[in-house]
Amino acid sequence: MANTYAYIHLKNLSHNLARINAIAQGRKILPAVKANAYGHGAVEIAKHLEKQGISSLAVATLEEAMELRESGLKSDIVILGLMCPSDAAVAVKNDFCLFCSDIGYIKMLENSAKKIGQPARINLEIDTGMGRTGCMPEEAFSIAEYIDKSPYLMMYGISTHFPVSELADDDFTASQIASFYKTVELIKKRGIDTGYLHLANSGAIINYPDSLADMIRPGISLYGYVPDTSLSNKVSLKPVMELLSKVIFIKRVKKGSTISYGRRWQAPCDTLIATVGAGYADGYCRLLSGKAKVRIKDRLYPVVGTICMDQFMIDLGPASDVKLYDDVVLFGPSGPDAQDLAELIGTIPYEITCAVSSRVKRVYIN
Ligand SMILES: *Cc1c(COP(=O)(O)O)cnc(C)c1O
Repeated sequence: MANTYAYIHLKNLSHNLARINAIAQGRKILPAVKANAYGHGAVEIAKHLEKQGISSLAVATLEEAMELRESGLKSDIVILGLMCPSDAAVAVKNDFCLFCSDIGYIKMLENSAKKIGQPARINLEIDTGMGRTGCMPEEAFSIAEYIDKSPYLMMYGISTHFPVSELADDDFTASQIASFYKTVELIKKRGIDTGYLHLANSGAIINYPDSLADMIRPGISLYGYVPDTSLSNKVSLKPVMELLSKVIFIKRVKKGSTISYGRRWQAPCDTLIATVGAGYADGYCRLLSGKAKVRIKDRLYPVVGTICMDQFMIDLGPASDVKLYDDVVLFGPSGPDAQDLAELIGTIPYEITCAVSSRVKRVYIN
């Protein structure tokens, strides 16, 4: 077996989904399984979610959507990102639900739909303040009307997205919610079918009950983290991923010896140094050099010296009962967790789990 592997604790995924379901109160859930389910393995995560009653899945790209479809998943698949025109025909043919932001793109999909003889499923995204994709609220009505009138377009839903929903009681998010409802009210009034109305990412699911609408789009919360540590006490989540490696070498070094590239760490006394069989090529970010701690059994040990591509070193201290081939926890539910690592290097837990590379085998544990 490889030195480095990622346990995916499916029980914790079920736990997190149950917490989200309790908030959703029967609303539809569209889990984000993009980016290989935030590094957890999209197909396996999606299969587990389907077993728990999930019937729609969100991905970022056509390739991600195809991977799920080809693995036999039955859910509606929503593609959140915009595609190049050359991908439109395949996306329509496979009946994916497609985020759209402007009329030109929608007409392009409509053309593909006509050629194929099968309608394209459209999700109209409104930009109420994210500033990424989405039409302006003023444009939404005329686009919705166009979709409504075309026999080759079907409205799957209307959505918006929040840039700061991790902040509670924030005026900006409140104004986005108001702008969204005002816009869809106008569309509904003219008798246009809006499909599912959906706004909430994890931050909004926790902070803004009035944003839950018909459907919610949790991502990071499913995988056991909150988008901001200020929310940790509001919902009890359990990290799903545990990244492990092994002690592959132990040596005694003299006071003053230096460890690893750049000689950035010097032993303050005679000590035992263990080499761990994982590195930045596995997704254990090099910026963690000299900052992170790993866990072996119940004790934490500091990473010393520069993290290499395939290995890094830890200081066991002058006397230690750590043995060759002991398991080393880089991050996971019993700590340190991905949030701890993220804080050390000024990023978010999303990036820590996404970074776990394809070289690392995911082992699914029930
Ligand atoms: C990724 C994504 C989500 C999920 O966000 P989390 O913060 O992980 O809950 C929801 N909606 C859209 C449009 C996204 O791109």
